[in-house]
Amino acid sequence: MLYSAIAAVFDRIEGTSSRLEMTSILSDLFGTLPPAVLRDVVYLSQGKLHPDFFPQKLGMSDKLVLRAISLTSGFSEDRTEKLWIKEGDPGTVAEMLIKEKKQMALFSEPLTVQRVMKGLLLIEETDGKDSQERKMKLLANLLHDSGPIESRYLCRIVTGRMRVGAGSMTVLDALASSFADKSGRPEIERAFNVTCDMGLVAETLAAGGMDAVRGIKVKVGNPIKVMLAERLPSLAEVMGRMEGRCAMEYKYDGIRVQAHITKDSVRLYSRRLEDLTDNFRDIASLLKESLKGTEAIVEGECVSVDAKSGKMLPFQEVTHRRRKHGMEDAIKDYPVRIFLFDILQRDGEDVTQMPYLKRREMLASAFSGTEGIQMSNMRIVSSVQEADAFFTEAVSAGCEGIMAKSVSDVSVYRAGSRGFLWIKYKKDYHSDMIDTFDLAVVGAFYGMGKRKGRYGALLMASYDPEMQSYVTVCKLGTGFDDAFLDSMPGLLDARKTDRRPNNVDSKMVPDVWFDPTVVLEVTGAELSLSPIHTAAAGVFKEDAGLGLRFPRFTGRVRDDKSPEESTSVAEIMEIYGMQKT
Ligand code: ATP
Repeated sequence: MLYSAIAAVFDRIEGTSSRLEMTSILSDLFGTLPPAVLRDVVYLSQGKLHPDFFPQKLGMSDKLVLRAISLTSGFSEDRTEKLWIKEGDPGTVAEMLIKEKKQMALFSEPLTVQRVMKGLLLIEETDGKDSQERKMKLLANLLHDSGPIESRYLCRIVTGRMRVGAGSMTVLDALASSFADKSGRPEIERAFNVTCDMGLVAETLAAGGMDAVRGIKVKVGNPIKVMLAERLPSLAEVMGRMEGRCAMEYKYDGIRVQAHITKDSVRLYSRRLEDLTDNFRDIASLLKESLKGTEAIVEGECVSVDAKSGKMLPFQEVTHRRRKHGMEDAIKDYPVRIFLFDILQRDGEDVTQMPYLKRREMLASAFSGTEGIQMSNMRIVSSVQEADAFFTEAVSAGCEGIMAKSVSDVSVYRAGSRGFLWIKYKKDYHSDMIDTFDLAVVGAFYGMGKRKGRYGALLMASYDPEMQSYVTVCKLGTGFDDAFLDSMPGLLDARKTDRRPNNVDSKMVPDVWFDPTVVLEVTGAELSLSPIHTAAAGVFKEDAGLGLRFPRFTGRVRDDKSPEESTSVAEIMEIYGMQKT
């Protein structure tokens, strides 16, 4: 399959904002590809070479890519760099210069998808002495046989800028439309939720149809999208929704991990699919050593504890474990325990469809006793008074609140979904605001006065999965200490763009735009109708959206959340609804 045909499709997708049209373009393409090529094309369409849970190590610097462009196009490095300063994107520079060069090499070898994949994998694997030079030459080699559009996407992929606009939901729609009918769509999504590997699902579907997709089960080594909780504003409502009886667990304030354990290996994944094994290697070893049976996938919250008393410590302590360097010291200085709350696979058996209480029983017997591994504290409650007592106990033990879990027979583990089988109730709910918001940074305003020369405020957005776009909720300028103000450029500038990203819907125009990447936790006084903000625009009032009044940064950077996992527009509408009652 020629890569030029794929690049032409990426170009058409980039040119439309209609999700339906994107689906139809992709679906036409998917139906023509052999299964293994389809798998690669699905990864490439997301700017990746592997499933999301593989660390993507392609990242070439813009400067290195510019050298490859200069080498291929024959234009000087100076000209290439000037154009880059103007355009801001090496992909656009490559496209312009390769178009201008026009005459392609006489003996150019056709660029197939397989060759592109092989070349990019080689770039990724290249390390050691002279690796930068060798990476540059490998890219130049691919660019040599590329036309303008192909080179645009090659350069975007290697610099981590590939955003043609078709998110994972659109790819799933296109797969369903190519290989199944509408009724197959939920099964295809389920397969994606339990593997986090869109390429695998695509290849399985193209090769074996819906029967093969139904056969996809949770598997050690493939992280599973986590189940999420709904929220309600009072324990009385929680108990009402649970029909008077449920399990309540402490809601620990730590870092959620999903552990994939066998007798010989163990990997811990964050909810964002990052590999955290190294950060919690003490916990990882304990889980492996004390596992009974052959293999398991379990979930729990890693919480910092006081070494002597075992008392739980605030969330800030456990964040020291997320650092990239000095892990040995962090492990010594910040001891943690894992509080297990679910099991998804045991000895090869997928147990996600087993009811909660059975899973809990299975979890309790999966490990031999050790101090570092604990079961989450749980009690069955049958009245608001009992719930209240458990909540008070949880908060005095240093927890954020409680997680209510349904004990009905249908209380299965719903990978990747937020529903009322789990309901969270936090101590913050006692204050005026129902919950904190996790919002993506989409822009920044230069500071004035004491903040002159730095970013003074940020434009914050919520995600709308239906529209696959970010809509603004507030301009955030409060809650930043000096250290955070200083850290902002390092945190944000790599994602600066010269214009409003296509997937951001905003009436406000900041001084600098960013591709949504960084998520911050924000609190505020209340949600109110706002003519400036675009979240839920037109839903409650024509010409108005919802904005967060008096927003304040809590100090917590949610690096465990991807921007698509920021508080969704549906959740914001739900919180607005609760506020009014
Ligand atoms: P969400 O996960 O709902 O998107 P969030 O990440 O901001 O939101 P919270 O709203 O605070 O987190 O609550 C959900 C999180 O609580 C879970 O993702 C998990 O990390 C944590 N948690 C702590 N204790 C438990 C427990 N006993 N059962 C399930 N989750 C728990």
